[in-house]
Amino acid sequence: MSLKHVYPAGQAGFRDHLDKKAKDWFRPVEPSAGKVPDVALLGAPLSKTSISHSGAFMFPQSVRAALGSFDTYDIDSGIDLSEALIATDLGDISMHVTNLTSCHHRIYETLGDYWSTYPSTTLFLLGGDHSITAPSARAFSEHHGEYGVIHFDAHHDMRNLEDGGPTNGTPFRTLLENNWVDGSRMVQIGLRNFANAKAYTEFALSKGVTLVTMNQLMERGLHDVLAQAVEIAGGGHIPIYVTFDLDVLDQAYAPGVPAPGPGGMDIWTALSAMRILGQNQAVKAFDWVCADPTVDVRNLTSRVAATLMLSAAVGIARRS
Ligand code: CA
Repeated sequence: MSLKHVYPAGQAGFRDHLDKKAKDWFRPVEPSAGKVPDVALLGAPLSKTSISHSGAFMFPQSVRAALGSFDTYDIDSGIDLSEALIATDLGDISMHVTNLTSCHHRIYETLGDYWSTYPSTTLFLLGGDHSITAPSARAFSEHHGEYGVIHFDAHHDMRNLEDGGPTNGTPFRTLLENNWVDGSRMVQIGLRNFANAKAYTEFALSKGVTLVTMNQLMERGLHDVLAQAVEIAGGGHIPIYVTFDLDVLDQAYAPGVPAPGPGGMDIWTALSAMRILGQNQAVKAFDWVCADPTVDVRNLTSRVAATLMLSAAVGIARRS
């Protein structure tokens, strides 16, 4: 029996019945309903693989909570996501407690299942740290064949594996050295000074990776950089995987990351980038990684991630 004037624990006491919360937009989709989701959220809560302290395993739940703070309506485009797209939340990949190689293998297997089950549904994958991108992109390559990567990050993430194995510092070396991606189809955007060793820039260039530093992005402008990135990664017909490390953002916008730094991307540029790439038919997958809710300020970084995700969705809604 419910009590008069009492609302369920954990829910907001005030509810505007005209509001459509982004959190409620992500619904389970029953296979029997015959509807294919346009976008699917999946969590890969792994951060024991981080080379510094990271509670990024809490990021998927933190972003889900943040989605409760945002509406589904985009004023600029007039699009209400809840009317334009079917979105589903598939849950989180369970991780082995102690075996990190096993964790990566689970991510690889789950994403393989994902692409078999949802071949036309744009993936929204939430890390975890950046190590999750290697097994995810590997599964992507096995399903889609030739593909390209557009990578937003302050760092190359191409560290040697001798010093620590497959960590959040190594995913793109792993992909390149195993030929799970062709360097000539890879673009890194937002690289920052004093954040990378010279040896790793040289390694990236030796593999044919296109590099756009943060300062070059500022000088050239987002539209010019993305037009080039999409051409290099996809060439107009090849599937593209977009991976976004929250630390590409300036520390003012994303304080809750293991490696905050000055001179990073502003939030308007990042939101525009997600929208532009979302609108591109070739883009089949996004991941957002390396945000640590345990060092965040008022959940601001998770709120940023939620809006990046919603902006990408608006782009997807504008495809048709
Ligand atoms: Ca990274």
